[in-house]
Amino acid sequence: MTDRDRAILLRYHEVALKGDNRKWFEDRLAMNSKKALKAALGSTSPIQVTRPYGRILLETEWNPASQDALKRVFGISSFSPMRKVPTRLDLLTAAALEEFAKLAQVGLPKTFRVKTRRSDKVLPETSVEIDRIVGSAIKDTYPQLVVDLKNADFTLELEVRLNESFISSEKISGEGGLPVGSNGRLLTLISGGLDSPVAALSVLKRGSPTSFVHFYGAPFVGEEVLEKIEDLVKLVNRYQPENEPLYVVPFGKIQERIALATAPKMRTILYRRMMIRIASKLAQRAKALALVTGESLGQVASQTLENMSSINEVASIPILRPLITFNKDEIIAQAKRWGTYETSIRPSIDCCTLFADRHPTLRANAASIQEQEARLNIAEWVEEAASTTYVL
Ligand code: ATP
Ligand code: MG
Repeated sequence: MTDRDRAILLRYHEVALKGDNRKWFEDRLAMNSKKALKAALGSTSPIQVTRPYGRILLETEWNPASQDALKRVFGISSFSPMRKVPTRLDLLTAAALEEFAKLAQVGLPKTFRVKTRRSDKVLPETSVEIDRIVGSAIKDTYPQLVVDLKNADFTLELEVRLNESFISSEKISGEGGLPVGSNGRLLTLISGGLDSPVAALSVLKRGSPTSFVHFYGAPFVGEEVLEKIEDLVKLVNRYQPENEPLYVVPFGKIQERIALATAPKMRTILYRRMMIRIASKLAQRAKALALVTGESLGQVASQTLENMSSINEVASIPILRPLITFNKDEIIAQAKRWGTYETSIRPSIDCCTLFADRHPTLRANAASIQEQEARLNIAEWVEEAASTTYVL
């Protein structure tokens, strides 16, 4: 069998997809999948898309690269390579037996079912009749197998069409979620640790594309910090249809000025409020409706509700914190699953620790923040930061 005899069937969860929503969701998913496949295969050949009800069929190559690419398309619940077989019941049955012969080499399932769908009613038999005919041929060859229509270990799918039909073999789990582009645009504050890349991927999984902003501590941190951030952005961008930009805010000098004027214990929260003011402004440029951070409740001493409230006060748009209830081990597991772990653990300096106390304020109170911020030229520095921001 050659690659050209292959197609890939995409499945998605249909819950919550009603009326017009469905077509829109399918359009997005098909478009994102096509883009991901084209990027992965480097191919210019057109990928044909058809939509048998409730699923998407892409006529394209099947290889490790295409498999890998589809695992990064949010919205796909599972997918299967399909082989083309001329639409004749005897040939479909023979192909089904071949699939089982292949399975027998690695280990047969205990229970199975055949599930036929007809896009074209070219064969005289109904779908259920085809299920029975193909199913009993399999059962005759492998009498130990049990047919189970509800909870089969293995489902062989047949897609009957006019001249050529499709038959599935393996089924691979997708990432689920919603296709990127089906929800509003966001701007993620990315800092080079484990958390913020996972936060960005979590919102992508809910369908929101995101661009990135990094507050760069140069000249007090080295270039390796920015290289790491760029690498992380590339990894996250593999999960969205477009390569979204990274906004780099030169922040070291501003931090130095804050540090010269304020109490060491307060600096972390003052930096953070400064970042949020600047990010809120950049969000307009990035057309983002909300900001995203990797904060999680109580993960580090500074991530208290009091401090988060104080941070929220200076934001002009909502701040999403998708990891708010995650434990560190859950974040690490996601980072490994999504492929950002190895890059995140590369050593680098976090600019929030620059000139800051090792034991920052746990519960910033409004009065002391106000007192400290009165010493700063906030509006001017926000303006300066926004105008010196560059895009990578
Ligand atoms: P991470 O693992 O994402 O680095 P963290 O556990 O180190 O997070 P903090 O340093 O308290 O936690 O930062 C909390 C969040 O604030 C980060 O997840 C990120 O969204 C944002 N943030 C912190 N520093 C920066 C920075 N220099 N540039 C952009 N965002 C930042
Ligand atoms: Mg950090």
